[in-house]
Amino acid sequence: MNTLNRNCICCNKPLKGRMDKRFCDDYCRNHFHNAIKSPENNLMRNVNNALTKNRRILKNTYQSTPPPHQVPVEDLMQEGYVFRYHTHFLNEEPKGYGCYDYGVLLQPPGMCTIVQCEGTRIKKENSFSISLHNGAQP
Ligand SMILES: [Zn+2]
Repeated sequence: MNTLNRNCICCNKPLKGRMDKRFCDDYCRNHFHNAIKSPENNLMRNVNNALTKNRRILKNTYQSTPPPHQVPVEDLMQEGYVFRYHTHFLNEEPKGYGCYDYGVLLQPPGMCTIVQCEGTRIKKENSFSISLHNGAQP
């Protein structure tokens, strides 16, 4: 931890006194803790936690399944995946939901296909693109 430039974590004024001090005074300490516990912050924290969990589930599922990384929709929900939370849409066919650097396509019917993505684009796996290449070229 940087102790050279210590500032109050509430008002950001430079701190004087004990090295382990984090706030100017009780006012700043109370203000900070009340702000952390506000309903607005609770909502954001819950959504952030859900997104973090969604990404972890997508990553684990991606890594534990062979290409094309498909699992039943129920399996993903059983893990705790919450479909209404995503960070972006995937702008390719088939349409899918992005969660940071992973995404989920709702296909084939009843199944999910887990993909890695870069922004709104689906990242193609090497083996995946090679087999597409071999199959598609005359
Ligand atoms: Zn302060």
